[in-house]
Amino acid sequence: MSEQAPVRLRPEIAALAAYRQGRNPPEGGFKLSSNENPFPPLPQVAARVAAATALNRYPDGAAAALRERLAARHGVEPSSIHVAAGSVSLLAQFIQAAAAPGDEVLYSWRSFEAYPGLVTVAGARSVRVPNDPDGAHDVDAMAAAVTGRTRVVIVCSPNNPTGAVVRQADFDRLVAALPGDVLVLLDEAYREFSAGSGGVDGDAVVAAQREGRLRNVVVLRTFSKAWGLAALRIGYAVGDPAVLAGARSTAIPLSVTEPAQLAALVSLDHEDALLERVEAIAERRDAVWRALVAQGWSVPRPWGNFVWLPIPGDGGEAAEVFQRRGLTVREFAGEGLRVSIGEQESVDDLLRAAQEVVDIRQQGRPGASVL
Ligand SMILES: *Cc1c(COP(=O)(O)O)cnc(C)c1O
Repeated sequence: MSEQAPVRLRPEIAALAAYRQGRNPPEGGFKLSSNENPFPPLPQVAARVAAATALNRYPDGAAAALRERLAARHGVEPSSIHVAAGSVSLLAQFIQAAAAPGDEVLYSWRSFEAYPGLVTVAGARSVRVPNDPDGAHDVDAMAAAVTGRTRVVIVCSPNNPTGAVVRQADFDRLVAALPGDVLVLLDEAYREFSAGSGGVDGDAVVAAQREGRLRNVVVLRTFSKAWGLAALRIGYAVGDPAVLAGARSTAIPLSVTEPAQLAALVSLDHEDALLERVEAIAERRDAVWRALVAQGWSVPRPWGNFVWLPIPGDGGEAAEVFQRRGLTVREFAGEGLRVSIGEQESVDDLLRAAQEVVDIRQQGRPGASVL
């Protein structure tokens, strides 16, 4: 915030920048900055949303039908499911429920850009543990950073923006090293794209919870990415009913809209069709990754619907190269770019832009060390 507010704001809020959304592309270009699903909604989903006519009525605040459906899907009771307006809302609720001023929320960094702000809003303190050189969580360093004030540990797998998964064995070791009363949020926003990765599997967490273990872990899922419902804002958590009740108590009442709940239900009816699209995106991603490696990029295999281009010391030049080719990407100044896997028609331009960045930096422009 740049201007002095005429009222007394909390100083940490006055200093906090609002969440920065991915930029829009130039006319005729492609938006590869927000990890959105490039496929249009399934006709059945669009039709159900269009047919939602009771817009004068409040939605079902308990999301009963959707929770029942998700509970059956995960083999748990509906009390073990909590639905919110996207997993960013879930994160905010759980952090607020567990972390008070003076408490610590621990996560790997770099990771999802929303985490730091949510922690600050809760009045808590972020403790960031640097990623390992492959962009993965350094779980042993994370375990070592736990203090008596740690209330929440966030695990993001696959990690946004680096694309690395947290391997199952690493996750197990981390959770085993934590005090059992520390809340672990497993953010699986991109899990559907990570088949075969060997990454931690939230379904296995839920299975353990059915046996009374891992009760301090909550699994976060979203309909925004693989399911293509980003506009509607809907996601859910699976976990211990008493932990979920804490989150629910912090929630803004009735913030999950009826069209969102209906769209999620119809999407679950058409899971196979949606997963075919996920597979197409994952194949596209793998082809892009192989081509990037052939260009000389040293990038670990990505497991989300995006690729990470590490460009240490870049001062914005690389993002401009993409922008000139009509591709809006997410820039992390000095660190690199995150490029979403979008429409097939965007792939050639993506690879040409990446090659151009390699060429520019090989010509020895300032700070060049792309390879
Ligand atoms: C996109 C994303 C989310 C999802 O946010 P929604 O609020 O569900 O749209 C959550 N976590 C990570 C790491 C993400 O990249």
